[in-house]
Amino acid sequence: MNQIDWLKLLYLLSAVLFIFGLKMLASVKTAPRGNLVSALGMLVACIAVFFQARSGSDQNFLASLKWILIALIIGTTAGLLLASRIQMTGMPQMVGLFNGFGGIASLLVATGDYVSQFKLLKDLNPSLRGIDITQWNELLKTADPSLRGIDIAQWHVLLATGLATLVGGVTFTGSLVAFGKLQGLKLTPSGPVQFPGQKVLVGAFILSSLILCGCLVAEPTFGFGVILIALLAAVLGVLLVIGIGGADMPVVIALLNSYSGIAAAMAGFVLSNYALIITGSLVGASGLVLTSIMCKAMNRSLMNVLFGGVGFEAASPGATVATGNKQARPFVTEDAAIVLEAAQQVVIVPGYGMAVAQAQHAVKELADELQNRSITVKYAIHPVAGRMPGHMNVLLAEAGVPYEQLCDLEQINPEFEQTDVALIIGANDVTNPAARNNRNSPIYGMPILDVDKAKTVFVVKRSLNPGFAGIENALYFADNCGMIFGDAKQIVTQLTSEVQQL
Ligand code: NDP
Repeated sequence: MNQIDWLKLLYLLSAVLFIFGLKMLASVKTAPRGNLVSALGMLVACIAVFFQARSGSDQNFLASLKWILIALIIGTTAGLLLASRIQMTGMPQMVGLFNGFGGIASLLVATGDYVSQFKLLKDLNPSLRGIDITQWNELLKTADPSLRGIDIAQWHVLLATGLATLVGGVTFTGSLVAFGKLQGLKLTPSGPVQFPGQKVLVGAFILSSLILCGCLVAEPTFGFGVILIALLAAVLGVLLVIGIGGADMPVVIALLNSYSGIAAAMAGFVLSNYALIITGSLVGASGLVLTSIMCKAMNRSLMNVLFGGVGFEAASPGATVATGNKQARPFVTEDAAIVLEAAQQVVIVPGYGMAVAQAQHAVKELADELQNRSITVKYAIHPVAGRMPGHMNVLLAEAGVPYEQLCDLEQINPEFEQTDVALIIGANDVTNPAARNNRNSPIYGMPILDVDKAKTVFVVKRSLNPGFAGIENALYFADNCGMIFGDAKQIVTQLTSEVQQL
């Protein structure tokens, strides 16, 4: 086997490891091993890249090695610092940022490769205008004899350069805006920012960028075109994400994740790197599947999410017990514990507030206490509860909640009518009955957990304030609903000790 065969074999091995790793990530039990298997795949791919670099000119490799090592040290240090300091509640923002970094990396690889070729040829022949792909290749081979036998410039490589720049740029700025929205930065309000003519403008930007990609293929020396595509993409990313409302952020994050994969696959075509093409395609495809799952969870089409602008209503202020002439019923933990202890079935509904309060261990202790008294306890998991896909599953798994007790929306909704207590811990939007019965509500049509059908509903949160979508929750004023105001961890711990004393 020669060196090229070894390279292909290593890339194939890394692709197989990625695919198996991804498969294992689909289940909570195998996910940690899946992570390790995927990381091993990445290590094999990195080793292969070094082999590939060595098969070029040794001098070039050694010259770039210094920069590669510097970049590795900076990237690894930043990654370690970010990952070790980030709170679980900040994970969605971090995932958003990582998508953006992936996008900008692909953009830089594609434009860097193109610009370095362009410069090489310009030095050789200052009047480059009008040369076609064949001449471009011939000139490159004259400039660098090690390129003999390869056609660097081919139409699909030029197209991939344009698309990696376009998709990578959109991913980068779009992810920065998504980060700002999730972080609650003033510059990027969590509601949709929309203005007249926005859709037309977005359409015009997409069309112009695609035309520029076409121009690059038709005229390889259209050097400025790549920079123009990058600029248009940067503005397009902002325009696309700024117009999307808070409640739709799960779809946006999944979509940006998919974009980062598509951009990486395009960069793989630019570099003729099989591992990058395969990995990028895997990320792109799985991101699209996740986007479609999220759209289904919100009962919205992708077009409606991108241009619908849901999540507009201003938040009602203050930790009050009444809004307008509607009254909510505050409950103390002593009374709530008596109702819980008398129940036969309790369904716990975790939401973002449980993550903020880090109440998952306390919740598990309360559930254990109830189960010790022969009360059936189940957990209802809404697909968009929390701030990232699978957020609740991860937290509850961390607390040691058996996977079999987690029920998804379709499984649990028919059970609420036979449930004595629905105990909502820091969830809001995913329980809002307006999605079912208020045609004027911006979340009308989104599938929710039918908690209001339980005999008694207890909501643990600090106030009547709305959730991420900024929409008032009619549930809090229902006759069968009691509000237990306070921090989720404190309240749940109190509930456990009250139940223990009964
Ligand atoms: P929500 O954001 O609707 O509500 C969370 C509630 O938690 C708030 O109303 C808040 O009320 C309460 N809370 C905050 N801190 C605490 C605390 N320390 N103790 C007790 N309660 C607390 O969360 P849901 O999980 O119901 O819904 C998720 C929302 O986020 C949806 O709108 C979804 O679209 C969106 N989203 C989801 C993503 C995903 O991938 N899952 C990604 C991005 C957005 P109070 O202040 O009164 O305590």
